[in-house]
Amino acid sequence: MRITALAGGIGGARFLTGLKAARPDAEITVIGNTGDDIWVHGLRVCPDLDTVMYTLGGGISVERGWGREGETFTVKDELAAYGVEPTWFGLGDKDIATHLIRTQSLNAGFPLSEITTALCEHWQPGVTLIPMTDDRAETNVIIEDENGRRAIHFQEWWIKYRASIPAQGFALVGVDQAKPAPGVLEAIETADIVLLPPSNPVVSIGTILQVPGIREAITTTAAPVVGLSPIVGGAPVRGMADACLTALGIETTATAVAAHYGARGNGGVLDGWLVDAADAHSVTAIEAVGITAKAVPLMMTDVDATAAMANAAIALAESLRK
Ligand code: GDP
Ligand code: CA
Repeated sequence: MRITALAGGIGGARFLTGLKAARPDAEITVIGNTGDDIWVHGLRVCPDLDTVMYTLGGGISVERGWGREGETFTVKDELAAYGVEPTWFGLGDKDIATHLIRTQSLNAGFPLSEITTALCEHWQPGVTLIPMTDDRAETNVIIEDENGRRAIHFQEWWIKYRASIPAQGFALVGVDQAKPAPGVLEAIETADIVLLPPSNPVVSIGTILQVPGIREAITTTAAPVVGLSPIVGGAPVRGMADACLTALGIETTATAVAAHYGARGNGGVLDGWLVDAADAHSVTAIEAVGITAKAVPLMMTDVDATAAMANAAIALAESLRK
């Protein structure tokens, strides 16, 4: 079975761990978000790609959910001692090795997708990981504070300000000229099932869907498309996704996120949507917008619970196959 999943960082990566456990024989392709990518101290950092790669490759810090296990921050501390900005970005010593290889390879002219494949040869994540694009498409956040109305890099808003400054909107700078990376559209078109993990619907999945051609591939693929709600009981399970939804005027509920994605055949991207058992009451409202919904436990507490979520998503997709 060929399964293609879109993914952000932590939520996507954890879900993929369960998907791999549930379907060890499946051919899984992951289309990763690169809107969060940033230059830090001259290094190209791809937080979401690395979170997927480290998580599936067994090198992630389980406690933090990002970066490497057993990490030290000597270089970061030394840079801070020089007073060099940004001091707020967590650049670990082991992690820097990945960014050095990526940056050197980019400077040598290799596209990000080929570099990602090369890095994955070391990590063996057990999936084919493809960045959504090899081109620049950078998430900026429009804010207004004492310095006026301006756009800042997503990471500055998310990490430095902890999303505490209300976002007026998001701009994916460069996306109009961006092309899907090689293999992205084919993975969607030839998939047996397309999954939208419980990643951030605005700045992870929403970003990937803005790359010209990707949304259209999802609306037209013969494969059923099923998503899992990142919102449980009216709150993001972890993180600050509510700040992103609020900026777009979307309520922080499993129903509102499903309606935002929309039903396929009605201009949207979903055939099916899983909500947490705590949100079982919202199934009727979701089905009213043309999306088949089901309530199952959606807390990724361990691999078994996450594998059960993946199995539920696959079962729902199979039941929706036309
Ligand atoms: P990021 O790029 O690191 O922010 O990661 P993602 O975009 O892939 O996923 C972040 C989202 O995962 C958060 O907004 C949460 O709503 C969601 N999430 C995290 N843990 C869980 C969980 O256990 N269950 C569900 N349903 N969603 C989760
Ligand atoms: Ca991210």
